[in-house]
Amino acid sequence: MQGELLSAIAGLVGLVTGVAAGLAFRFSERGRNTTPASPAQSELPAGVAEVLAALPSSAVVLDSADRVLRASSAARAYGIVRGSELVIGDLLALARQVRRDGVIRETEIEVAVRKFGPDATSFAVRVAPLGGTGLVLVLAEDQTERRRVEAVRRDFVANISHELKTPIGALSLLAETITDASDDPEAVRRFTGRMQQETSRLTSVIQDLITLSRIQGAEPMADPERIDVETVVEEALDAVRTTADTKEIELVTSGAEGIVALGDEGLLVTALRNLVANAVAYSPERTRVSVMAQTTDTEIEISVADQGIGIPAQDLERIFERFYRVDAARSRATGGTGLGLAIVKHIMTHHRGEVTVWSKEGSGSTFTLRLPRPEPREQTHSEDTTEREAAQ
Ligand code: ADP
Repeated sequence: MQGELLSAIAGLVGLVTGVAAGLAFRFSERGRNTTPASPAQSELPAGVAEVLAALPSSAVVLDSADRVLRASSAARAYGIVRGSELVIGDLLALARQVRRDGVIRETEIEVAVRKFGPDATSFAVRVAPLGGTGLVLVLAEDQTERRRVEAVRRDFVANISHELKTPIGALSLLAETITDASDDPEAVRRFTGRMQQETSRLTSVIQDLITLSRIQGAEPMADPERIDVETVVEEALDAVRTTADTKEIELVTSGAEGIVALGDEGLLVTALRNLVANAVAYSPERTRVSVMAQTTDTEIEISVADQGIGIPAQDLERIFERFYRVDAARSRATGGTGLGLAIVKHIMTHHRGEVTVWSKEGSGSTFTLRLPRPEPREQTHSEDTTEREAAQ
């Protein structure tokens, strides 16, 4: 990431330096032909300003007397430049060194940016001479987003490792215990049962990770199929019927008949199944889980309402994050992987739709899937083909 950024900056510096060098050459040629060489070091060669304006980074050009000839608005907003001064001492020192020896330099600096709170912002900086005229170009790239993405990635890897290590550790302990208890058939039966539980937990985590990696970041679907929403609801409910029966939870459905959506049936079943599985898992015995479908002018809505434990208000924003659980022990006890809602969110994005939640602790939760409603005459690729084939 850092490497990519630096090579992007390097490319841009190359571009700017190239333009400036070309311009400087033309300037000096013109100078030789017409007027004596002018002190070009206090002027920004034409064309450079446009290149700088197109750069995403904070860009500053210093003249040979360290005055700021040009600064992007980002450089001013971050407080790197004030008036016609470069106010970061380390950067100024670097610019002078570069002007002296012409060697391009890179570094990272911390700037206390008041606008964004007390914390310092870290910048990847590249300083380069500009066209051999005493001008120096300073490019600074805010590292906050890169660091945030890195932290998310690190957390994700740590979470995966933990999720995989826990059942593997349990399996290894159980295997040892079984060896020790080999002459006690009752104990062996009990421990092998637990081994099966841990194995299926491991399988769920891996299966969810595969689904997540397949779906996240995927482009919105180009060639969706026509889907019968009633079938999606039935398939999702079938998957949780046994668990619901064990807890005497009543499953009710309404409104799905005749609604047609566009999308990927398997993925929509996965999304709805995750929601009903949660509704059953986080509800006490002898309650009701309802799946209701309806259409509005523009959308198809499928909601899953339960009378369960609900979700505290402060957790509502985070439950769609990977591995986020309100109560980790409860989630594990119900076989949860912490990935279910993240998968639902990505599936809905892939369908140009969304998932929303309403919940009240102690009363229950309602999750709603929203999909764009197909235009009356919107057809899928396969229907087009079938019609064309029929016409031939
Ligand atoms: P998990 O596998 O832990 O269920 P999810 O991503 O499906 O992971 O859900 C994230 C968390 O959101 C759960 O751990 C649970 O705390 C909370 N949650 C999800 N659905 C419900 C629900 N219907 N009722 C109460 N809490 C829920």
